[in-house]
Amino acid sequence: MHWHTSHLRPMPWKGERDPYKIWLSEIILQQTRVEQGLPYYEKFIAAYPTVSHLADAPQDEVLKNWEGLGYYSRARNMHATAKYIAGELAGRFPDTYAGIRSLKGVGDYTAAAIAAFAYDLPHAVLDGNVYRVLARFFGIRTSIDTPAAKKEFSALAATLLDTARPGAYNQAIMDFGAMHCTPRQPACATCPLQEHCVAFKTGQVSALPVKSKAAEKKDRFFAYAVFYHGDHTWVRQRAGKDIWQNLYEFPLLELPVLPADTGTLPGLLLNHCFPQGAPPGARVRGISRPYRQTLTHRIITAVFCEIDLPEKTEVADFQKNILEKYQRIEHVKLKKILALPRIIDWFWQEKDVTLKFN
Ligand code: SF4
Repeated sequence: MHWHTSHLRPMPWKGERDPYKIWLSEIILQQTRVEQGLPYYEKFIAAYPTVSHLADAPQDEVLKNWEGLGYYSRARNMHATAKYIAGELAGRFPDTYAGIRSLKGVGDYTAAAIAAFAYDLPHAVLDGNVYRVLARFFGIRTSIDTPAAKKEFSALAATLLDTARPGAYNQAIMDFGAMHCTPRQPACATCPLQEHCVAFKTGQVSALPVKSKAAEKKDRFFAYAVFYHGDHTWVRQRAGKDIWQNLYEFPLLELPVLPADTGTLPGLLLNHCFPQGAPPGARVRGISRPYRQTLTHRIITAVFCEIDLPEKTEVADFQKNILEKYQRIEHVKLKKILALPRIIDWFWQEKDVTLKFN
C-alpha cells in the first residue's frame, strides 16, 4: 500500500463507489485487457448511466454495444442481472457479499471486488495479478488453475487483507501485480518486497506461478453462405448452448474438416440451404481465404462463400427451403444493427460491400 501511494494507475473506475459502475467495469474486464476494455466501459456508462437504463435497453442493442469484446455470455448475464436488479430489487444494487455473489455472471473475484470497492467490506480479491504476487512472494508451487489453489490462495489472501481499508489494499496488490511484479520481466531490482520474496531469493521468479498444462483446444470448421439477393442477405440468430449465443450469422454448414479444395464449398452450401434444388441462375461470386478465431476451448476456422441469387426469384421460394429459419436483411444494416461474431465481423469489414452501401 505504501508502494501504491506513489504508483497510482489512473482508470475511470478508480475510487468509484457506485456499485453499478464498479460491477460494469469488472464484468467488462473479465478476460479482457484494461486497454481493450476501457472504451467499452466509457461507451456503456454513456449509453446506460444507471442500472435501470441498462435494464430497459433491448438485448440486441446491448450485444451490439458489446461487439468486439468477445465472451458474449458476459453481456447476456449483465443484461439479465440489470433487469433483475431493476425489477426485483427496485433498482438497488445488493450491498452484502452474499447478495452480490448471487447475481448472474458474478463469481468470487467480482463479488469481492464490488464488496470491497463499493462498500468497504472485508473481502480479498483474487485475480491473476494477486495469484502471481502471492505465488512468487511466498514461493507457492501449487498450480494456480486448480481448485486446491483457489482454496489455498483465498485463505492466504484473506489473512493479508487490511480489513480497515479493504478497497485500498485490494487495489494496491492488483496494481502491484499489473505494474511491478509483471508476468514477464518483473522489476525485482527495485522491488520493495525483494528482501522477503521467496521466488527472488530462490531464483524461481520466472517459474512462478505454476500453471497446469492448458487444455487442448478443439478445432471446428465453418462454411458460411453469404448470399446476395439484390441489396439483401440472409442471417439467423444463434440459439442453444453453443458458442456465440444470440449473435447473428450467415447460413452455416459445419464440417468435420475443411476440404483441401475450398472450391467444393459453394456446392455443398447450396445443397444444404436449398435441399429442394438451388434457384436456377445462382452464381458463385467468390470464396474467401480461411479466417481463424481462437476461443477459450476452440479454434474456429471459417470460409465465406459469396453467392449471387437471381433477383427475380421470389423470397417465398427460398423460405420453402432451409432459409425459412433465417431472416432477410439489407447488407447495409447487417453491421450497423446486429451483433456479429468477431470472425464474421473481420470478414465483413474487409468487404467493399460495406463501403459501397454506406
Ligand atoms: S522481488 Fe520480483 S518476484 Fe518478488 S515480489 Fe518483487 S517483483 Fe515480484
